[in-house]
Amino acid sequence: MTYSSSDLTHSYIDGRWTPVTGTQCSPVINPATETPVAMLHHAGPADVEAAVAAAKRAHLAEALGSKDNRVALLERIRTGFDSRREDLAQAISLEMGAPIDLSRNAQAETFLIQLDATLDALHGFAFAETLPNGDHLIRQPTGIAGLITPWNWPIHQISLKVFAALAAGCPVVLKPSEHTPLNARIFAEILDAAGLPPGAFNLINGDGASVGAQLTDHPDVAVMSFTGSTRAGLEIGASAVRRGARCALEMGGKSPCLVFEDADLDQAMEKILAKTFPNSGQNCNAPTRILIEASAYHAAKEAAQRAAALWTLGDPAQSGDHLGPVANGRQFDHIQTLLHGAIAAGATVLCGGTGRPDGMETGYFVKPTILADVARKAEVVRQEIFGPVIVLQPFEDLDDAIAMANDSEFGLAGYVYSNDPAIQSAVIRQLDCGMVFVNGADLAPGSPFGGTKKSGIGREGGTYGIEEFLELKLVAHPA
Ligand code: NAD
Repeated sequence: MTYSSSDLTHSYIDGRWTPVTGTQCSPVINPATETPVAMLHHAGPADVEAAVAAAKRAHLAEALGSKDNRVALLERIRTGFDSRREDLAQAISLEMGAPIDLSRNAQAETFLIQLDATLDALHGFAFAETLPNGDHLIRQPTGIAGLITPWNWPIHQISLKVFAALAAGCPVVLKPSEHTPLNARIFAEILDAAGLPPGAFNLINGDGASVGAQLTDHPDVAVMSFTGSTRAGLEIGASAVRRGARCALEMGGKSPCLVFEDADLDQAMEKILAKTFPNSGQNCNAPTRILIEASAYHAAKEAAQRAAALWTLGDPAQSGDHLGPVANGRQFDHIQTLLHGAIAAGATVLCGGTGRPDGMETGYFVKPTILADVARKAEVVRQEIFGPVIVLQPFEDLDDAIAMANDSEFGLAGYVYSNDPAIQSAVIRQLDCGMVFVNGADLAPGSPFGGTKKSGIGREGGTYGIEEFLELKLVAHPA
């Protein structure tokens, strides 16, 4: 599939493709080749205004209608997915470097997974109820939803937010990452083909500092939902709260994984890497701080080296289960800086390390890396790295493990490997985070995704995702 740059010269506003009035452009770079594949035209202030105005008209007209109407609308969107599945997979691979098999089997499929989870939740959702005290509660759409999404699982994050907002009855203005606008364009084409009411879904492109900030600060936007860096999330949250708007923030993490001496170390390390390395480590809930009971530390280092040997790098356009590059040059530089710092401070490199892999001088490829013997407070332990890198650290006992795990500004996920139910239960209770995964288990679609502290505010997915876009209204009648 080839894209012409004209594909990215339009916003989608009020049910129509509308030429961008802004003057700023930025290239979309293929991270495997470091070459531009398209030119993104950023929305101007008038385009943001028009998108919010279209959403406002749709909101005032209650254009998304009844629950049955919204179910029918999401089902029409579902029928449009099949014919665009491969386009989505190709676009994501091209613009953020996901290997094509991962892009087909995981990245693009998240459209359908989140759509079905939203539909399931919507079918059973009660928008009105009578309380035991006789009063009534109704759940109404909060209003215009401003959605800002990142580049790492781009169609997943768009789907999680847009389907939940539409299910709740909120018209949306979506601003996807400026690094990955191609999949967002296809997403909009699928929604356009489904025949949504004008203004129910609007797409504007551009960077965070101008287009994203204008959307966030807009007085008519009633709820902001954001996924991305903690820096941007905290700015967006502060701005939303200042003007009395709701906000849901998903801001990433530095998730600890506690490995106890009774665990099968080879199995544990294989599962840990299978959660961290795919998508080149650009997964906000990845277990990246691996805390190992001191008595098993030496054996765990060897098991980690054996598990890492199974991972290779390769061309994302080629079929296979290799890793691709990281998504952009800034990401590559950030990872290298953290690796250099850790090694200078005395970390042992068990595999991988700094610099480009041999024979891969072009492309933002990062060697799958395992560091050991890292100081407890090292930057590489504290900062989200967003690359195929894990850090191994020993702990003395359960209390020490919990203290190390919770000594972080993040609180997204926690992982535990042990067959002892008492240890599992203590870890589940005491970790300060939004999700705990035991012995390599995974999250099922529709479960609430999100975290505590600087990992976020609120939850996405299924019923919990829809609730983020609803306002509770109490209704009392005379007795
Ligand atoms: P970012 O937060 O800068 O960008 C994410 C989205 O927010 C983009 O759409 C961007 O245009 C927008 N944005 C940025 N600043 C904004 C602002 N002030 N107001 C409104 N919108 C704004 O993230 P990034 O530069 O793409 O990545 C930087 C780091 O963020 C990564 O290294 C990684 O640690 C983290 N990250 C986390 C996730 C996640 O899933 N939690 C996803 C992507 C990146």
